[in-house]
Amino acid sequence: MSTKRAASDAAAEDETFFADLVMRHSSDGVVISDPSRRALWVNPAFMAQTGYAIADLAGKEPGTVLQGRDTDPETIQTIRQACAQRREIRADILNYTKAGTAFWVDLKVTPVYDSSGRHTHFISTMRDISERKALEQQNEEMRHTEELRQSERHLLALTSEWLYSAKSYDELLMVIQRAMHTLIPEADGALYIYDDTRSMLHLATSWGTMPAFALDMLPDDCWALRRGRAYAFGLKPIQFACDHVSKRDTPYFCLPIIAHGETIGLMHVVFDGFEEGGLMRNMRESVLRNRWDISLICAEQISLAVANVRLRHELHDRSVRDLLTGLWNRRWFMERAMREVSLAARDQRALALISLDVDHFKSFNDRFGHEAGDLVLREVGHTLQQAASDKVHPCRIGGEEFTLLCLDHDLETASVQAETLRLAIAARSLAMAGQTLPQVTVSAGIGVLGRDGQRLEDVMKAADLALYRAKADGRNCVVGTATSPSVQMV
Ligand code: GH3
Ligand code: MG
Ligand code: MG
Repeated sequence: MSTKRAASDAAAEDETFFADLVMRHSSDGVVISDPSRRALWVNPAFMAQTGYAIADLAGKEPGTVLQGRDTDPETIQTIRQACAQRREIRADILNYTKAGTAFWVDLKVTPVYDSSGRHTHFISTMRDISERKALEQQNEEMRHTEELRQSERHLLALTSEWLYSAKSYDELLMVIQRAMHTLIPEADGALYIYDDTRSMLHLATSWGTMPAFALDMLPDDCWALRRGRAYAFGLKPIQFACDHVSKRDTPYFCLPIIAHGETIGLMHVVFDGFEEGGLMRNMRESVLRNRWDISLICAEQISLAVANVRLRHELHDRSVRDLLTGLWNRRWFMERAMREVSLAARDQRALALISLDVDHFKSFNDRFGHEAGDLVLREVGHTLQQAASDKVHPCRIGGEEFTLLCLDHDLETASVQAETLRLAIAARSLAMAGQTLPQVTVSAGIGVLGRDGQRLEDVMKAADLALYRAKADGRNCVVGTATSPSVQMV
């Protein structure tokens, strides 16, 4: 009996000894607390982990000492609740060492009961999982960045699709404005395009909330235009602001827009209010670098799209322009005149056509050659072009026949216009290869909307009949109507 008891005593002693060994040498921190969670004992691993000794905790709930500013309040609440209900709880929680360093622990709090079922203690074990958390966070950041990149790529692809489908220059400007605002929401921007003389750039469009951008800028005022490559201000320790920039304490980019190898403009992207945005310096720099990459791609795509629209314009222009004189051709005339006639009829506005034909052109050609004939046509074209306005549209209909589409012109004003042109042409002296050519004259006939009919064909026919009458009347004259006696204005 006594040997039995001695044996069981020895076993109990061993157990306590072993338990003690585990507690002392475990790498997990352990805190034993009473049922009200007041700390009673901590193991060495806890002291190593946190820098706190039992004296620091005595009588306190360990959480109140270990938790800090960034500890999740919801997790704290969950743990509290579990303890109040004497349930075992396990949670990842952010703790702070005595020195104030934050670290993540995998915390398990277990209620302990004695043989009579009375709740006597809580045992909290804490495993440092900072490394795992750091890795998780890194992965999360990488995933987030990758997601961002992906949506950027998607947006860029979408933008280029829109840019390419822009049919007109105005449509293109609208797409650029929207796209830039979406792709780089924290920046304002403007697109400048060179004028014909290339001595100045004019504002084509702008986006964002910044008060107006300058309407014009000089090429020499921009580092990007001077150096012929994109320029970023705000990314390097030594740098100089462009003269066209009004706010010099804010980062910006200048990106030349190049079409068919020629710089045709500049995209200006400004990060107004970026500093006050509260972004940390390193964060700000990485965002700026990312925006720089996007801007470069955008500038390239905008360059291609502008070139594309210009080419379209050129092709369209070529299809409606007469090559020899540069005037509108028959195709343009027919389309435009058709539209203008119906608009004028609807709005009850005057409209007149002047048909104009070079006199004795066949014999001129025969005597002086086709080249001299071409010269005459160019000269006549040039004279007519000088009369061009938003109301008067001179066209070469074919051969040596021209028509002027005159909006808001009645018989009287159209006659005056025709007469002015007839005199101007007759007054020109022509020479070729040192040889003076004889005077060139034209005859003209006038058709008037309303008087001669409501349809384009009616007015064209009336103008042609009047012209025929002018020829019959001796040429070098203007005739206002084919039926009544000619309105000779010579
Ligand atoms: P009219 O005073 O009655 O108008 O006599 P015309 O000789 O001008 O009339 P006609 O219509 O008989 O002659 C037109 C000539 O214009 C015939 C053609 O050789 C010439 N012509 C047509 N197109 C061109 C062109 O592009 N260049 C040149 N050089 N001549 C052209
Ligand atoms: Mg003729
Ligand atoms: Mg003719």
